[in-house]
Amino acid sequence: MDFKSSFMDGMVGVGDMILLESLSEESLLVNLKERFKSDEIYTYIGNVVISVNPYKSLPIYSPEKVEEYRNCNLYQLKPHIYAVADDAYQSLRDRDRDQCILITGESGAGKTEASKLVMSYVAAVCGKGTEVNQVKEQLLQSNPVLEAFGNAKTIRNDNSSRFGKYMDIEFDFKGDPMGGVISNYLLEKSRVVKNVKGERNFHIFYQLLAGGGTELLGKLKLVPDCSKYNYLNNDPSSLNGMGDNENFQIVKNAMEIIGLSDAEVTSILEIVAVILKLGNVEIKGQFQANGMAACYITDTKGIKEIGALIGLDSSMLENAFSVRTVEAKQEKVVTTLNQSQGIYARDALAKNLYDRLFSWLVQRINESIKVSEFQGRKVMGVLDIYGFEILEVNSFEQFIINYCNEKLQQIFIQMTLKEEQEEYTREGIKWTRIVYTDNEVICTLIEDNTNGILAVLDEECLRPGKVSDATFLAKLGTKFKNHKHFQSKVTQNDKRIADLTLPDNCFRIEHYAGQVTYNTDGFLDKNNDLLFRDLSQAMWNAKHQLLKTLFPEGDPKNSSLKRPPTVGFQFRNSVSTLMKNLYAKNPNYIRCLKPNSSKKPSLFDDVLVKTQILYLGLLENVKVRRAGFAYRQLYKPFLERYKMISKKTWPQWAGEARDGVAAMMAELGIPDEEAALGHTKIFIRTPSTLFDLEDRRRRR
Ligand code: ADP
Ligand code: MG
Repeated sequence: MDFKSSFMDGMVGVGDMILLESLSEESLLVNLKERFKSDEIYTYIGNVVISVNPYKSLPIYSPEKVEEYRNCNLYQLKPHIYAVADDAYQSLRDRDRDQCILITGESGAGKTEASKLVMSYVAAVCGKGTEVNQVKEQLLQSNPVLEAFGNAKTIRNDNSSRFGKYMDIEFDFKGDPMGGVISNYLLEKSRVVKNVKGERNFHIFYQLLAGGGTELLGKLKLVPDCSKYNYLNNDPSSLNGMGDNENFQIVKNAMEIIGLSDAEVTSILEIVAVILKLGNVEIKGQFQANGMAACYITDTKGIKEIGALIGLDSSMLENAFSVRTVEAKQEKVVTTLNQSQGIYARDALAKNLYDRLFSWLVQRINESIKVSEFQGRKVMGVLDIYGFEILEVNSFEQFIINYCNEKLQQIFIQMTLKEEQEEYTREGIKWTRIVYTDNEVICTLIEDNTNGILAVLDEECLRPGKVSDATFLAKLGTKFKNHKHFQSKVTQNDKRIADLTLPDNCFRIEHYAGQVTYNTDGFLDKNNDLLFRDLSQAMWNAKHQLLKTLFPEGDPKNSSLKRPPTVGFQFRNSVSTLMKNLYAKNPNYIRCLKPNSSKKPSLFDDVLVKTQILYLGLLENVKVRRAGFAYRQLYKPFLERYKMISKKTWPQWAGEARDGVAAMMAELGIPDEEAALGHTKIFIRTPSTLFDLEDRRRRR
């Protein structure tokens, strides 16, 4: 995207914030606010589009709008997400450059809606024809399925994605879609077993109960009443107005379009039913004759129903909830579980079951939409992933999420700089060094193979002996005692008071977006994510084919398998793969902002938005963008716009546009270092030079 309609007549505020006169978080805020008040929710920073969630439907996504932006001359149009989508698509189709669209922002800021707008725009403008249409339909229908299983109502967003998603859409040489591949990141599986006031479990549970109908629910031995299931939040206010019944039909239809067989759909829903029933398995404690604490299941009807659904003798399941077998040196040691351990085992099974079902579903969708290798493959990647999070209490999940955002910031800076430099080279402009804030040191602090926080965590998780969240924290304290971006109170040998406000069980990281205090309680457990072997073996013994395949480690043949990699390790690897994938593509950025916390239209909360401007590093964004040359434009449109301010070019320049611009700049006395002339474009270093041109133009 080259020319921004930044000073179009009638424009509210500044359409491209690279051209803001004074640069500060405050000036970005004021500009976004002014535009938001007139329903201008999109604003550029160079080729980055900022989107402020309007929380109301705006008439800017009609088929007519699609036509307007399609092959448009951006010069005449207002900033829009379609412009970015169009630019990415055209560049993919005509210039053979693989694209990626990175969408970031906090929960409820509009990322998922933005990703769907991009997908639907591309679907609308790319090839037509029966086969192509079927591919498009399958790609688009993956959304309702993944949302049913991966989204939930939260306090911040009624349809909050509880997983990260990256989708590669593949095109042939003509630019027709051929298929795609979806990757999923870290589903918030703890939601399956946890009730939060005002929030819900994953949509699919409610959808099944509301829309399943007597016959299906009868087969699954479910009742159409959420209040009967412990895992579901029974607060009626969180149930109303979600359209669960209608959505269930949409999801079933979508699964059919994707190509799931009836049998597969039934298998999936059986597992959903099993999870609901697990939540109702009541586990009580008792003491054995030898005085050891043990636990038992109070009512065996539920567990028998589960057994019947999955084809497993229920006594095996009952057993797996009450004992734990540990194999050490060819010897099997069986210990009884007490009540809380029994409940832990039950919930761990429910969480794992759901998490694995979700990943399986993603793989299954991929099977349907993937295409075999073909010549001239072009790719557009769309990333919709959790934004930077600072909650009241930040735990392992926030640590992982914020690490991911730190990496995204790093790749943003690297790619922006790379792109700038490539453009200078292409245009034959002398390379200028760009000064910027590098967050590499924070990334290394977290991810370094041997010395990073994640590595230390793994070390503690794998080390025999007495390990705990506290020993982990102590290790960090010693290791990073002098690290500029790390703080904690505890070190192994001494307790030093780094900061009185920092609690003992916490460490603090200075992220690019600000300070975050992480509470280490549960770090080891969450990173280990252990499922007792008795449970995985029980699952593997079930006759239910799908369920069985979800627990390969339950196969006795695999019992010698090494322990599965930790959650942190897996995440680090998938982030690293993702980064390589993104780095090979041409980036397009959509950065979403949430205007208020109450999901209300027309309400702009200054403090809230300013915090996000900070977290998203928008100011840094503008600075990097204009560190070299703030503004660039092709010669012809530039000459058209300004020819009136020079005697040499007015009313008409007869020669090449480049020579006309050169003559104009010379006449106006603009120094060479302020306006560099490339092969096809003029580059202007500071915005004030451009404003000066604008002023002259206006005074004419
Ligand atoms: P995120 O994925 O960032 O958590 P969503 O994309 O789910 O946020 O958006 C949250 C809600 O905000 C949506 O359900 C919708 O009601 C509203 N919303 C988001 N973007 C838009 C938009 N461009 N126009 C109208 N409403 C929107
Ligand atoms: Mg989302």
